[in-house]
Amino acid sequence: MSELSPEARLSELRAMCPQIAIDGPSGSGKSTVARALAGLLHGDYVDTGATYRAMTWWMLQCGVDVDQPDDVAARVNEPIIELGVDPQSPAVWVDARDVSTDVRTAAVSAAVSKVAAVPAVRVRMVDLQRAYAENARNHGRAVVMEGRDIAEVVLPGADAKVWLTADLQARAARRAAQDEQLLGAQAAVADVAQGLQQRDTADSSRAATPVTIAADAVVVDATHLSVEQTVHAVLDAAAKQAGVADA
Ligand code: C5P
Repeated sequence: MSELSPEARLSELRAMCPQIAIDGPSGSGKSTVARALAGLLHGDYVDTGATYRAMTWWMLQCGVDVDQPDDVAARVNEPIIELGVDPQSPAVWVDARDVSTDVRTAAVSAAVSKVAAVPAVRVRMVDLQRAYAENARNHGRAVVMEGRDIAEVVLPGADAKVWLTADLQARAARRAAQDEQLLGAQAAVADVAQGLQQRDTADSSRAATPVTIAADAVVVDATHLSVEQTVHAVLDAAAKQAGVADA
């Protein structure tokens, strides 16, 4: 493998139109990093968590009891969910309504793991997510997809797979700051940490596709890294996995 400058490495990676999977727990910085990487690669950004949140928002709006998996499964095909994949302005719509902010509320955060555990929901969401990856490929663009099961389930053939993590306190502090910016409400970091921990436990103990780290993923721990350092570490890992030489 020849040595490449960072710019040459980036353009080589860009030319491959790679599929990059970034998985990890809530608040690990996946969204920020995935968006930055998609921007650098001039590719699409797919936030799979937003699709589960959109489904959950719709179920709550319709008064579906999210504690009843059969009730959730019975309505799963009704909402039309669409994502905006521009990393500069990601968005999510349900039945043509922009719900990008609504899906971040505490009510949706508290219910999303229950909805995401319903197998019929996962089947529909995985189909939707793969369609976005397919669309990027058909248009000759890279795709950076973030979630929990991208490397193992949604895009098992991805060119690069990264598991991004950070310790609970760091994740809670980051998520609390994000929520404050988005929702204008200030939540105590300890409460956010508790919510994250409950969601992590529910996500990794559910029967349908429990969250696990793919055997072929590279783990990046962002606890002590700045955003810039994390983007660099993830780009580095992705380039190596995709077979692009480092500088
Ligand atoms: O990433 P975010 O926190 O928005 O994800 C919200 C929830 O959606 C997660 O806690 C998990 O229950 C679910 N999810 C999932 N699989 C994914 C992405 C998210 O089950 N690929």
